[in-house]
Amino acid sequence: MTARKPTITLIVPVYNESANIRGFMVAVDHVFSQVDGYNWETIFIDDGSTDDSWEIIRAVTREDPRVKGVLLSRNFGKEVALTAGAEAVNGSAAVIFIDADLQHPPAVIPEMVAKWEDGFQIVATRRLSIKYSRLRRLGSRLFYYMLNRFSSIKIEPYSTDYRLLDRDVLDALKTFEERTRFFRGLIDWMGFKKTYVEFSAPERDNGCSSFNFNRLATMAINSFTVFSLLPLRITGYLGIGVMLLTISLLAYMVVSHIFTEAVYTAQAYFMVFNTFLFGVVLAAMGMIALYIGHIHTEVVRRPLYIVQEKVGIE
Ligand code: UDP
Ligand code: MG
Repeated sequence: MTARKPTITLIVPVYNESANIRGFMVAVDHVFSQVDGYNWETIFIDDGSTDDSWEIIRAVTREDPRVKGVLLSRNFGKEVALTAGAEAVNGSAAVIFIDADLQHPPAVIPEMVAKWEDGFQIVATRRLSIKYSRLRRLGSRLFYYMLNRFSSIKIEPYSTDYRLLDRDVLDALKTFEERTRFFRGLIDWMGFKKTYVEFSAPERDNGCSSFNFNRLATMAINSFTVFSLLPLRITGYLGIGVMLLTISLLAYMVVSHIFTEAVYTAQAYFMVFNTFLFGVVLAAMGMIALYIGHIHTEVVRRPLYIVQEKVGIE
C-alpha cells in the first residue's frame, strides 16, 4: 500500500439495503480497479436499518479494510445519515455521496473524478430518466418550481445528491450547524466551482424505495421550513379551508347571479369576501408557525444524530 496516494471516500447511506450491499461492493470494486492513483475508501452509514444491513456491513469491513461503517442509533433520515458520513471522513481529498441501491450508477465515478482532476470542486449529477410514477414526477417538478421561485437558493432540477465534493467543500459543509438539512440546497448555496455529469437511473435492484408519498411530501415541506407547532399549523390549514370554501361560494354566487334569477345583496358579497380575508389571515398565521417551528428546532440544539457503533473508524 502506498500511503502517498490521495484518498477518495464513498459515503453510502444505508436503510434496509441488505439485498443491495454486496452487489454495491462488487460494482464499486470494479470501478476502483479502473481508476488509478487513489486509495479508495467506503463508509457505510447504517441509518437504523431494521433488517440485517449492519451485520452485512460488519462482514464486509472484515473482508475489506478499505470499508468502514457507522451505525446510527435509529433511523434519522438520509440527509442526516449523509451528515454523519461526512463527519466520519478524515483526510480524504474528495468524497462521493452515493446511494446503496445502485440507482446512482458507480460507472460514472471515473468521469466525476476526471472532472474533479480538471479543477471542479463540486461534480454534481443530473438524472436523465427515471421511471417514477407520474404523480412523483409531477410533485418533483412542482417542488423545484416552487423552491426556485420562492427561495433564495437556485436548485438545478433533476440534479441528484449523487455528487463528488472536494475536501474544501466538505470542510465548509461540516461547519454548517443547522438542524434541518436539505443537502442539495446547502451544497448549491455554497457556490464553489461546479459542473455536472449526466446519467440515466436504472430501476431499483432490490427492495423498494423508502420514500413514499408522505416522506417525500415531508421532505419537500422541510426544505422550505420546519414545523413543530401543531396548533398554529392547524390554524393555517383552517385558513386554507376557509379560503377555498369562500372562493367557491363566491364563484357560485356570481355564476348563479348571471345565469339564474338569484340575486344577492352587496352585503352578502361583502360578507363572503370578508370571510375569505379571514381565511387569508389564518393561513398567514400557519405560515408563521412554519418559521417559528424552524427557529425552535435550531434553538434546542439537540445532537443531530447518535452513533451507536463504528467499525474501522476511531
Ligand atoms: N436511506 C437512508 N435513510 C432513510 C431512507 C433512505 O439512509 O431513511 C438511503 C437508502 O438506503 C438509499 C438512499 O438513502 O441508499 C436512497 O433511498 P431510496 O432508494 O429509498 O430513495 P429514492 O432512490 O427512491 O430517492
Ligand atoms: Mg433509490
